[in-house]
Amino acid sequence: MEYVSEGGRADVCLFCAALAANDDRKSLILCRRPKAFLILNAYPYAPGHLMAALTRHVGPLEEATAEELAETMRLVQSAIRALTASYHPDGFNIGVNQGRVAGAGVVDHFHVHVVPRWNGDTNFMPVLGDVRVLPESLGTTYDRLRPVLSL
Ligand SMILES: [Zn+2]
Repeated sequence: MEYVSEGGRADVCLFCAALAANDDRKSLILCRRPKAFLILNAYPYAPGHLMAALTRHVGPLEEATAEELAETMRLVQSAIRALTASYHPDGFNIGVNQGRVAGAGVVDHFHVHVVPRWNGDTNFMPVLGDVRVLPESLGTTYDRLRPVLSL
């Protein structure tokens, strides 16, 4: 299936489709845990832009269980460590867009964005639906991050 970025729409939930595909490299899934998983954003705002998503198809933050949120945030921590080791960013945007009006492209499957930032970069997180040209392919990003994700 074709991925739809934040701001786009998909007939099938892209997170559920990625989990069901059982081809993690093609689906850009970096790692799976029982209640959450890490996946690269197919239309990144910066190299290494990834998301920690719930395994369960549920949208609003307040409907996630404490265990689901704990696992999601542990994956965010792992992602930050891996991104720091591979990309040496100066900071991160870590955030959730809840609801279409807030900029969520996938409104019914909870996920947390992790976007590495560098001093002097010009990306700003809430610019949505903007497909950027990046100096690195998604496959390259995947191969850089996958081995350093020690969980
Ligand atoms: Zn889903």
